[in-house]
Amino acid sequence: MDKLTIRDVDVHGRRVFVRVDFNVPMEDGKITDDSRIRAAVPTIRHLLREGARVILASHLGRPRGKVSDALRLRPVAERLSQILGTDVRVTGDCLGAGTQDAVRRLKSGDLLLLENVRFHREEEANDPAFAKALASYADLFVNDAFGTAHRAHASTVGIAGFLPAYAGLLMEAEIRALSRLLEDPPRPFAAVLGGAKVSDKIKVVEHLLDRVDVFVVGGGMANTFLVAQGRTVGKSLLEAEMVDEARRILAVADQRGVRFVLPVDAVVAKEVTRGAEHKIVPAEKIPNSWSIVDIGPRSRVLFDEALAEARTILWNGPLGVFEIPVFGDGTRHMARLLAGRADAGATVVVGGGDSVAALDQLGLAGRMTHVSTGGGATLEFLEGLELPGIAVLQDRQPAPG
Ligand code: ADP
Ligand code: MG
Repeated sequence: MDKLTIRDVDVHGRRVFVRVDFNVPMEDGKITDDSRIRAAVPTIRHLLREGARVILASHLGRPRGKVSDALRLRPVAERLSQILGTDVRVTGDCLGAGTQDAVRRLKSGDLLLLENVRFHREEEANDPAFAKALASYADLFVNDAFGTAHRAHASTVGIAGFLPAYAGLLMEAEIRALSRLLEDPPRPFAAVLGGAKVSDKIKVVEHLLDRVDVFVVGGGMANTFLVAQGRTVGKSLLEAEMVDEARRILAVADQRGVRFVLPVDAVVAKEVTRGAEHKIVPAEKIPNSWSIVDIGPRSRVLFDEALAEARTILWNGPLGVFEIPVFGDGTRHMARLLAGRADAGATVVVGGGDSVAALDQLGLAGRMTHVSTGGGATLEFLEGLELPGIAVLQDRQPAPG
């Protein structure tokens, strides 16, 4: 990796401002998924073990520059305390005399969590004075918030104008796994794409077109490609304005010898709701008043075959409306298939909130080579964009000679 990380710097006794992404899903004040907290733990443990004075900062939800008691980080601090086995304090605000004082009193190996940085509108505005105030707490800046790296905010980007900036271990793992896909994937390289809309993922498809050997496409986005091939999709989700673009992509893939695998059958339902009447039909016979809600059994076999030889597989986007369990067979099948492929030595990288949720439901996330913690950030990385929260990190000087 061409960025300096926390392993490249002596942090003993130094104050380290660590931007983490603790933006966890919550219901009634309870954390429903603590993956993002756990993902930041290797960096926190490393810094504490090396004797740093650690100041953690995160956003939670969208308070839009106002204090919101429901979006305080206290539940996060409690969860982190349990994981680390030490009491994690949260300040009342990320600015102010009380916080400055708490920072001053930190000893080597101590830890403090600043209150939600988005309680100040200056955070998202990347306000220089706000960034400078945050920077004043520390000697070093560490960005471990990969999930927020596509946003140029004060605590992800602005602060790096005042402090030397290093990648945390999660940031490093994300950059490594995702850049491997783009730069040097073991071949054959297959991308499995699904999810609702083509428009969300079209730039990823575009960027991967001259990198992958096989595309496997399911979910709602497959519908637009089916229509581009001259099929009809009934009442299914369709982005009519994207059909020409889909047709162009199919033509380019064909020209370059990239295999493009689409469903050959589908589960269709009268309504996209729980308990709706549903049946399996061939892709060329989607009934007019029905909607595609999943790939069918013949498609599952075809997708298996298309991925059988792959040594690298990227998966983003469920293959059906998996939130309704009867429409989740295709997605669950893909999750199990990829776990098996990873066990057999293939490099398997999964990104996307809903795809990762599907893996978690099956308890399969741990079997993958890498599960990305980013949603939008992962997609932008795969589009080939330079993420602002990564761009600000110090470059590693190339070794002499
Ligand atoms: P990710 O979060 O993994 O990137 P997306 O957010 O792009 O995935 O897409 C997930 C959504 O796509 C899910 O809510 C799922 O219900 C929906 N979806 C998948 N297949 C279909 C389909 N055939 N029709 C409508 N929606 C679909
Ligand atoms: Mg999603």
